[in-house]
Amino acid sequence: MRTFTPSRPFNLFLLAVLFTVIVLSLDLTISLILRDPQQRTVYSDVISPIIDLLASGALFIAAQQSATHSKRHAIAWTMIGLSTLAYALGDTTWGILELGLSEPPFPSIADIFYIANYPLLLIGVFLLPNKPDIREDEIKKVLDAGIVMVAAFLGFWNFLIGPMVSANSTYSFLEQAILLAYPAGDLVLLWALLRIIYRGSDQPNEAPTFLLAGSIAITIVADCIYSYQALLGTYASGGVLDISWRAAVLLTALAGISQINAIQSLRRTGEFPRRLEVFIRQVKTIAPYFSYLWLFAAYILLVRSRLVPLPMDFLSLSLAVGGIIGLVFLRQVITLLENNKLNARLQIQTRELEKTNQELHNEIVERKTAEQKLMYDSLHDAMTGLPNRVLFLDRLGQVIENSKRHAEYIFAVLFVDIDHFKIINDSLGHLTGDQLLISIAQRMKACLRSSDTVARFGGDEFAILLEISGGKVSAASVAQKIQEAIKLPLKLDGHELYTTASIGIVLNVMGYEQPEEILRDADIAMYQAKASGKARFKIFDIEMRSQAFSRLELEQELRTALENEEFQLHYQPIISMETNQVASFEALIRWGHPQRGLLPPADFLSIAEESGLILPLGKWILDEACQQLMKWHQKHPSLQNVSINVNVSNRQFSQPNFVEEVIEALQLSGLKADSLRLEITESVLISNFAAANKVFTQLRNLGVQLQIDDFGSGYSALGYLQHFPISAVKIDKSFIDEMGKGHRGTELIRAIVSMTRELGMDAIAEGIETKEQLNGLKSLACGFGQGFLLSKPLDKESAEKILAKQEDNVLGSSIV
Ligand code: C2E
Ligand code: MG
Ligand code: MG
Repeated sequence: MRTFTPSRPFNLFLLAVLFTVIVLSLDLTISLILRDPQQRTVYSDVISPIIDLLASGALFIAAQQSATHSKRHAIAWTMIGLSTLAYALGDTTWGILELGLSEPPFPSIADIFYIANYPLLLIGVFLLPNKPDIREDEIKKVLDAGIVMVAAFLGFWNFLIGPMVSANSTYSFLEQAILLAYPAGDLVLLWALLRIIYRGSDQPNEAPTFLLAGSIAITIVADCIYSYQALLGTYASGGVLDISWRAAVLLTALAGISQINAIQSLRRTGEFPRRLEVFIRQVKTIAPYFSYLWLFAAYILLVRSRLVPLPMDFLSLSLAVGGIIGLVFLRQVITLLENNKLNARLQIQTRELEKTNQELHNEIVERKTAEQKLMYDSLHDAMTGLPNRVLFLDRLGQVIENSKRHAEYIFAVLFVDIDHFKIINDSLGHLTGDQLLISIAQRMKACLRSSDTVARFGGDEFAILLEISGGKVSAASVAQKIQEAIKLPLKLDGHELYTTASIGIVLNVMGYEQPEEILRDADIAMYQAKASGKARFKIFDIEMRSQAFSRLELEQELRTALENEEFQLHYQPIISMETNQVASFEALIRWGHPQRGLLPPADFLSIAEESGLILPLGKWILDEACQQLMKWHQKHPSLQNVSINVNVSNRQFSQPNFVEEVIEALQLSGLKADSLRLEITESVLISNFAAANKVFTQLRNLGVQLQIDDFGSGYSALGYLQHFPISAVKIDKSFIDEMGKGHRGTELIRAIVSMTRELGMDAIAEGIETKEQLNGLKSLACGFGQGFLLSKPLDKESAEKILAKQEDNVLGSSIV
């Protein structure tokens, strides 16, 4: 059930509409009930002025209400109100005259009021402010109105004015003028009507003006019918025609009320109500077609004039119709021009739209590419373009799942680490390091099939995922292939770089669940490969895990060992083959581990290297060795020519302040520079020719001698040595071991010895264990020797005993 809501505003307009409908129904009913013409006339003469006055009242209120909103509206509505008032006065006087005198006079005062109504209304309508139009539209509308007006004029002239003039030719000029003022007034009304239809009002709510237009339209039609009936003499007062006029006046009243309602709603809500909007819009859209209809009507009139003569002569009529055609034509031309203009604008807009569309498309493509690149970047290593750890782990995860489903599916993971990469990177610079990594990446890729994955984890670490189902390849053979490929010399910036790789392998036979577990074990196996001398591969087994653990433990212990003074140096004599005397001692590091006892360097040096602990340790060794020799020199002044050999790790040698460390050790101990010999391995020379040479020269300038340790175990070409200020070469034990076994071993040593002699260097044979080796070396004129046969590495006390013995017989018995 609907309930009355008090908050709902009181709708004056709808109430007025209801009232109008009721009044008109009553009016019609009464007019039909009243049969007597006299009674009808009385009724009509009384009711008409009342309705007219009510309407003019509503219009004046509308004018007064509009004043707050717009002055112009107020004036316009006042004029419209005045026109209705004039009409009301006309009706009143006419009623009085008609009721007072049985035959009202013509002309009468009523005519003055009636006629005054037309111009007042026209002024009112023209005063109503309207929306500005663009110039073309304005011209078109004027033309449209012109067409209608000319056509309407033709109609009025031929059917009303002309016949009226000829019917009332006996009338005086004034009488005729007044008579003709009515059809002329209707033309004026038509003009006002067209104005409203074409120009509307500036108010968003156009209901008031359009209701007014409706009223005008009814009035014009009723007037025309009246004039025609009057001509024929069939008009009777109080008939349906009178009701039409009253309906028109009621519509005017509705227009006023609608305006009042609009202004009130504006005050209340800040907005105009939207009434009859759709209807008004439709009227406006079909309005332009009226002109064609009127042209057609004018044409019919022209044709008709040939059959039934009209008041206007054919020529004038033809000219007028021609005029209308001219106006229509002009309108078409304007529309055409306007269309062209619109078309041009549309083309520009279409082009702009296409351009924007293209730009949008490009932007989308760009964004997509950027997204793809971002995705790619997040899964790949920027430098080598290989998959990164994330992508590798993802693929490994998939492969693990796959192997769980298919028992025959076997894969392996290889963890590859480049040996000595850090030294190359530190000494030759990151750029060279990067280039090296890129070329290694390419070489590795070339060794693999497209189904395998090689990834870079950062630094010099790579991982490979191998599918080995079907047993066509074995992980070990791939590892070997990769090692061979990496081993090949690489020319970079004029340097010939030699690198090796250590590889750890895990086979998926252990039922791994997580990719990380596989990587961890591959890493452990790789460490094992490193620990057992680098440049090799190791396949993971469970035992390695515990080794890795103890290795980790050792690393922890190593960190505190230096502070706890757990390190000591042992000294192994280097003997002159000529004099059989100690020429030098090689300082060799030992770790007095609290639980494990005395550990050899093999057990902890690689850990110290990787963890960086080799740097403080190396410095301690240098200081300790220098100080020890200085003490011996002080104690045994005649043995000033006995020197000390100190091993220097690559990492220690490559650090920027190495020369300063050497100077500091010499200064601290007070040892002469020429008593110090530094042993470095070939790899230092190979990985960084220029930097190494610079450090060598600085050390040589100090007076410190440089020796190449383990010569021949690496890749050095003999000729290479001449570029460096090197004083001696220590021939690797492996050559000495070969000596007794055949001709080839001896010949190699002969070649090395003779070459060193030519270069002005000494040759020192390492690892002499047998008398045959010693004699052989002597016969090859190798200058110096070192080995268990001559003396094992000794603690400092034992070493000193040898020195003491030597001092006692400086020229006497030898060590051997
Ligand atoms: P290296 O510099 O070539 O030292 C010679 C190694 O050969 C020593 O092993 C020595 O005990 C061993 N040796 C000497 N003569 C014989 C022999 O006749 N037969 C056999 N089987 N071995 C012999 P050690 O002391 O275990 O040192 C191993 C390596 O550790 C050294 O090789 C050197 O590269 C490194 N190292 C030792 N001490 C230091 C140090 O203080 N600093 C650095 N950076 N490295 C060191
Ligand atoms: Mg050595
Ligand atoms: Mg050696």
